[in-house]
Amino acid sequence: MQDRVYNFAAGPAVLPLPVLKQAQTELLSYPGAGCSVLEMSHRSKSFEEIIANAETNVRKLLNVPDNYRILFLQGGALLQFAMIPMNLLNGKTADYFVTGTWSKTAFGEAKTQGKISAVWDGSDSKFTRNPKNGEYKLDSEAAYCYMTSNETIQGVQWQSYPDAGNVPLVCDASSDVFCRPVDISKFGIYFACAQKNAGPSGVTMVIIRDDLVARSPATLPKMLNYKVLDEGKSMVNTPPCFAVYILKLVTDWLLHHVGGLQKMYEKNVEKAKILYDTIDHSNGFYKGHAVKEDRSIMNVPFVLPSEELTKKFVDEAKSHHLTQLSGHRSVGGCRASIYNAMPLEGIEALRDFMLEFARKN
Ligand code: PMP
Repeated sequence: MQDRVYNFAAGPAVLPLPVLKQAQTELLSYPGAGCSVLEMSHRSKSFEEIIANAETNVRKLLNVPDNYRILFLQGGALLQFAMIPMNLLNGKTADYFVTGTWSKTAFGEAKTQGKISAVWDGSDSKFTRNPKNGEYKLDSEAAYCYMTSNETIQGVQWQSYPDAGNVPLVCDASSDVFCRPVDISKFGIYFACAQKNAGPSGVTMVIIRDDLVARSPATLPKMLNYKVLDEGKSMVNTPPCFAVYILKLVTDWLLHHVGGLQKMYEKNVEKAKILYDTIDHSNGFYKGHAVKEDRSIMNVPFVLPSEELTKKFVDEAKSHHLTQLSGHRSVGGCRASIYNAMPLEGIEALRDFMLEFARKN
């Protein structure tokens, strides 16, 4: 284990060690199946149990009301950017909060499908904050209202969700699902790709209210149609079995090892505070991107005084077993992604390195 680093990647990202160990133990022969999850039929009893248990775990963790369906889909979060307007627009319009790179991308995808408006766009302020109540006006006739709960690249997170009234609120929670308790009944759709806080890449979880599933136009191809995918219990074709299995293990870990999302949230706040305090007390050596009140507890982007120092920081960090600290290629600087599975020791090691680096440079 000596060569395992503290991995601050934005996704695919660090997974809980007990999950990896269990997957390792069960890799050659899943209990009762006599073969690996990698080798078993998705129609087998073992896999049916795995996917059913994954769903039960998600229902428990997020307290998902009975009138919501849970789908495990392929195509990543990006496919949802297209599927949402394809399934929900039905000739109407939709409102988008453009708060960072991912909501901007979702907005662009939705525009290929119909008439969409940006109700608030943070580009002018370089996506350093979310809108405040009163800074936007929502259309009460819109098919849905779209938001990204945590902008992975800019590190801007909604602290409370906007009130869309009777219009279904659609939320991309790819980079902060399971980081804190949420009230799913506020949303029409709450979706997340797995590869940050829920498992490996390959599976995307879509939690969708019954009445919205019913809206899918019959003209849509099967694999793009929520109604068909729901009726087929997420197995219209072969699902990403191994990714679903790991998601099941990650949700087991959250329930039984961590003790639920309130406990996870408390740990996440503690971890994020250590890094933000380090940034804030560095006399300007490190500068955070987001305004304080909208800071993300999952992704911490920051800059150093020069590009030269940034490169030196990332390189030297590597030799301290602290990896993947470069910012997204579109914005530069540095970013520490500190998802649920990042242990406190990893954060403390990064803090110590940051203090030492600032002192020396
Ligand atoms: N939304 C958010 C908030 C993300 O962080 C990402 C991935 N970084 C995506 C969408 C795209 O996810 P995928 O690569 O699974 O399509």
